Amino acid sequence: MVGGCTEDREYWQVWYDIQSSNTFIDPHVDTTGMPRGYAGISKVAGIIEFWQKLRARHDNGFSRFQSLPHIIFRFTPTGSIMKHAQPGAGTKTPAPARSPFFSTHPSRADHFTESVIREMTRLSIAHNAINLAQGFPDFPCPLELKAAACTALHADLNQYAITWGAKDLREAIAARVAHYNGMHFNPETGITVTCGSTEAMMASMLALIHPGDEVIVPEPFYENYGPDAQISGAVPRYVPIGDDLAIDEEAWKAAVTKKSRAIILNSPNNPTGKVFTKNELAFVADLCIDHNVIAITDEIYEHIIYDGRSHISIGSLDGMDDRTITIGSFSKTYSVTGWRVGYALADEHLTERIRKIHDFLTVGAPAPLQRACVAALELPEAYYRDLASDYDRRRKILFNGLRHAGFECQLPEGAYYIFTDIAGFGMTDTEFARFLVEKIGVAAVPGSSFYHAGGETKLRFTFSKKDETLHDACERLARLNEMGIAS
Ligand code: PLP
Repeated sequence: MVGGCTEDREYWQVWYDIQSSNTFIDPHVDTTGMPRGYAGISKVAGIIEFWQKLRARHDNGFSRFQSLPHIIFRFTPTGSIMKHAQPGAGTKTPAPARSPFFSTHPSRADHFTESVIREMTRLSIAHNAINLAQGFPDFPCPLELKAAACTALHADLNQYAITWGAKDLREAIAARVAHYNGMHFNPETGITVTCGSTEAMMASMLALIHPGDEVIVPEPFYENYGPDAQISGAVPRYVPIGDDLAIDEEAWKAAVTKKSRAIILNSPNNPTGKVFTKNELAFVADLCIDHNVIAITDEIYEHIIYDGRSHISIGSLDGMDDRTITIGSFSKTYSVTGWRVGYALADEHLTERIRKIHDFLTVGAPAPLQRACVAALELPEAYYRDLASDYDRRRKILFNGLRHAGFECQLPEGAYYIFTDIAGFGMTDTEFARFLVEKIGVAAVPGSSFYHAGGETKLRFTFSKKDETLHDACERLARLNEMGIAS
């Protein structure tokens, strides 16, 4: 980290050159890193943390940058970050030699990295490894969906659908959600079809958040929520999900402030597999009601759930119908992650805002695939039972293979990931992920991508693959034993 500040005091400036290993103490920065008489600079702590994490990833090859650019943040005397700071006259801060564009044009995109999960897929392809990193199936989607997609294309359904979703799809979603989730939405005013749940989450946050609002994010969290918060201007407050999957109610209560606007839930959870119980959801619902906060709940794995557990939507609990945005998707339930069809369910006032954002983000989800998703919702109940039992079998194959290879892990309660403890292997998560993809031929996701800080002793594997793929991966992982790497 290199830090400095201007002398003219129009603004304070801090910059980091990721390539430099020197620590530079500017005359205006005292030994604790705080410019004299200027408290706002404490915001820099989070930025330093971010860059340190980025650097660790870069050093281990998890970055598409050839070299990491430096970045400059400027702060007004009252401590807010200047969005479009121009260099002040008479600044004595030496101009960094590299990447002049980055030095004068701060951007939202400077605050987060590319997805490590998606990067692992690229590395996996490069090393011809088995991709247990990104959560997508290597088996086909149901025939009925493929047939319906072909029919839609042959019927020339090639133009924009209604922005917030084709009417027949919204009606089918309303019926399915009433049956499975016990929630009732008017397809005309409460359902927005989006480009995957990814867009549903982003549109919901942009619709809800005023920059500076706080969102509570249980940690570890699905990687996207960090950048979603940054892009929408939300300030994340993290609450822990422990290794025992318990939620610390006191920590959650303490995280709620006057600025809290939303709690982001994800059940069944990626990466931990946790399925929130009715009591836990009731606790979160009470927090939302008592503090006038909205629950944004990502329920993309709602049908992938094990050992007789049931999925409960927080939006179905008393008092939550007008303060919940429920996000769903066709990606995982019907094995069509590339189709990019998802949805957001909310009361009419929230929906009105979500639809506006959605309109200008994407105009709409793919029209022929929306038609095919209607066919998905016509599949019989047996489809969902088979889906869960097939994933149950796959989870046990991978679990046994991981344990045999020396990983500490538990069988997940839901979703299709196993979040392992790798402390016994004597490498950090990024080192070990690189080692596995290069030397063992299996790709996994470094744990730190699921934490704002920490997670270096974790690695996530997906079992959304054919049995033979998983057996093959387990055989490869067993070589860790032969190599004597596990402690
Ligand atoms: N939410 C969670 C929790 C996920 O794990 C994923 C993908 O892995 C997504 C959302 C992305 O879903 P979609 O394909 O619907 O955008």
